[in-house]
Amino acid sequence: MPSYDVLIIGGGNLGLWTAYHLAKRGVQRIAVCERYWAGFGATTRSAGIVRQQGGSETAVKLGKWSRELYQELGRELGLGSGFVEVGYYVIASSPEERAAFQDLVALRQRCGVENVWLEPDELARRAPFIDWSRFLGATYTPNDGFVYPTIVARNITHAVLRAGVALFEECEVLEIEPLESGYRVRTSRGVFEAERVVNAAGPRGARRIGQLLGLDIPVSAARHQIVSFPTRPPELPPSFPMFFVLAQGYYVRPDEQGVLLGMSNPEEQPDPTDRFLLEFDWDYFERLRPHWEATVPALRGQPIGRAWTGSIDYTPDHLPIIDEPRFGFYVLAAGGHGMMWGPALGMKMAELILDERVSDLPDEEIRLARFQEPGKVRDTIALPFPTR
Ligand SMILES: Cc1cc2nc3c(=O)[nH]c(=O)nc-3n(C[C@H](O)[C@H](O)[C@H](O)COP(=O)(O)OP(=O)(O)OC[C@H]3O[C@@H](n4cnc5c(N)ncnc54)[C@H](O)[C@@H]3O)c2cc1C
Repeated sequence: MPSYDVLIIGGGNLGLWTAYHLAKRGVQRIAVCERYWAGFGATTRSAGIVRQQGGSETAVKLGKWSRELYQELGRELGLGSGFVEVGYYVIASSPEERAAFQDLVALRQRCGVENVWLEPDELARRAPFIDWSRFLGATYTPNDGFVYPTIVARNITHAVLRAGVALFEECEVLEIEPLESGYRVRTSRGVFEAERVVNAAGPRGARRIGQLLGLDIPVSAARHQIVSFPTRPPELPPSFPMFFVLAQGYYVRPDEQGVLLGMSNPEEQPDPTDRFLLEFDWDYFERLRPHWEATVPALRGQPIGRAWTGSIDYTPDHLPIIDEPRFGFYVLAAGGHGMMWGPALGMKMAELILDERVSDLPDEEIRLARFQEPGKVRDTIALPFPTR
């Protein structure tokens, strides 16, 4: 029976980055079991926004470290990192948001992220393609950007294979049995043993994998959708800065030669099944249309090239989970931010496994115990995930 020091369930951005950091720190026998193919879950369906402008200390730091790690891995492999730096405006629509966003600037600066508050008249000079008369200002970070998710999946898969990690694709984990020391894991490709097991099974797996050991892991999945316009209107400069209208749950970034628009319907319901959520909600798209067309008039009437949906993961407070709920069994989840946080979450999971602690992040923002006191912490800069 093959036996490993660490067996990771899920070959998405989180599982692969965990394997990478463990290998880098000298762990020899690492396996990743992936039900389909590496990156095939939420990871390559995502928009790839990498934002350091989080709404809590953990969110800010994970964004900052991940941005750096993407770039470092590109250099290490001698390949493009997939990261494109364009800057990001997080836009305030109400006096409450304006005050809250202004408060967050100091937190981000304390965490080493360059971040400023800008008034609408200054914003109109910097980004005239947005109708700023609709808004009350925005925070801005010049070195935020986005990754092309397929390039990220390519790089991290290549890196783990190069490091000698055993990557089993089309290998679904079906049962986990605790042993006196370690775990026996039954999969569709045979039975494995491992000293430690990491549940990084993402939106459509983390909860189910927890249930195999009687654990309640509060990771849910909801539909999130994206359209891509193949052509960039001339009013938008090449590599135009991204922007996020938090109150309406939509964001815009450059996409190859065009423009990408992502959106979450606040009335979306969690989907407890493990199916892919692939039905595009054109009705919601049309309901939101007047809003984004008024915000960026140049997008009005642009033909759509691609439209897709995916199951996005979320936790009740939009913060990640980095924890060991039972000896040798770990949980890693991104709260819907696995592209902007994945590389750093993998680093912190490796730290928890090898050092038995997670440094530089407040425990109450990453541990499972916080869900017993709902509402105590929250990442305030997040899509409108279902509240239930
Ligand atoms: C449309 C969309 C847009 C998004 N945009 C962004 C964005 O701009 N920025 C951002 O930060 N985040 C974004 N996200 C969220 C981000 O994609 C996720 O948070 C991230 O991919 C989660 O990574 P993961 O590794 O946890 O999950 P996944 O990538 O889903 O990986 C988990 C893997 O586990 C596997 N698995 C599940 N069950 C089992 C099992 N029993 N046995 C073996 N394997 C199993 C799955 O097949 C899957 O490949 C977006 C998501 C969607 C859907």
